[in-house]
Amino acid sequence: MPVKNRFAELLPQITAWRRDFHEHPELLFDVHRTAAKVAELLRGFGCDEVVEGIGRTGVVGVIKGKTDTVGRVIGLRADMDALPIIEQTGLPYASKTKGKMHACGHDGHTAMLLGAAQYLAETRNFDGTAVVIFQPAEEGGGGGREMVKDGMMERFGVQEVYGMHNMPGIPVGHFAIRPGAMMAAADQFDITITGKGGHAAKPHDCIDTTVVAAHVIVALQTIASRNVDPLKQVVVSVCVVETDSPAHNVIPQVVKLKGTVRTMDHSVQDFVEQRISDIVSGVSLAMGARGEVAYSRGYPVTMNAPENTDYAAEVALAVSGHVDTDAAPLMGAEDFSFMLNERPGAYIFVGNGDTAMVHHPAYNFDDNVIPFGSSWYAGMVEARMPAA
Ligand SMILES: [Zn+2]
Ligand SMILES: [Zn+2]
Repeated sequence: MPVKNRFAELLPQITAWRRDFHEHPELLFDVHRTAAKVAELLRGFGCDEVVEGIGRTGVVGVIKGKTDTVGRVIGLRADMDALPIIEQTGLPYASKTKGKMHACGHDGHTAMLLGAAQYLAETRNFDGTAVVIFQPAEEGGGGGREMVKDGMMERFGVQEVYGMHNMPGIPVGHFAIRPGAMMAAADQFDITITGKGGHAAKPHDCIDTTVVAAHVIVALQTIASRNVDPLKQVVVSVCVVETDSPAHNVIPQVVKLKGTVRTMDHSVQDFVEQRISDIVSGVSLAMGARGEVAYSRGYPVTMNAPENTDYAAEVALAVSGHVDTDAAPLMGAEDFSFMLNERPGAYIFVGNGDTAMVHHPAYNFDDNVIPFGSSWYAGMVEARMPAA
């Protein structure tokens, strides 16, 4: 199973879809044009069922194989949303909407899965059912979570689920994956330190919240450096410091700190949440102030099931001959994790070559990736549900 010849024939068409999505980027759940086009194309391919509005603006297509002797159902997922970035690629098909840009390559993911869907609907050379999943709001909105909450897995009987993301820095046509934690859980915290504001020339009459905040920021660094096992991954970043006074001569009453926590392991995640709470309240109390933390959990760890990781790697190897099965995990987060929490599956990177990094205004998805990505999606269906 090398790159499927059919995708060489379909390449101009898939590339045209990709560039059309690129010209018309949409954000979060507001992917109405993209979703409508995806649904229209899926219907045109002759999918057995096409359902819109799952997880608000998600689209699901169902393609039945020639036979269905064991009742197997495999889900394949792509994301459809863009980013609030001003594009600087100078491409002829650059974004027509200033401030919105497909800077993460979701235009490519959607086009590649559409190509796979067309091929699977034409050939149906498998025993079972393929479910193609197009989700909104990967970039912070939790579209994957919304589709799961909408009962997608049960409604379509999905048993295993597979996702793919392009990655600059990996050669085009090469794949990278690892079993276990592939991407981090991303949480956020809002810290409020309340002291006693007043005249900056009379600090002894105040409880200086800026000094307390400075101690809290330094103490939070000890979570990664002194508390968590050095062999486990953790990031604690304070990204915002806000006081309630813009003046040079006022000690603020309140200081707010905001930041993010990245972990790869549930026990580390629980531990860090507790340490932040203890440090903020303890350090504040020691200096006469009051410290409070609002901690909210975001995307969970993207956890590749070992067996399914092997299946994904085998297909990638057959498609391209180049698979790194010990890829370094990333501390970024991915909301495909919500689907992987529901069903076993795996998430794989496909190389985008030597381009700007995703989320950069000069980034562009490389259309040469399409035959590899579409072949992998289609190959997963044929490999996991071989024709009877
Ligand atoms: Zn992204
Ligand atoms: Zn992305």
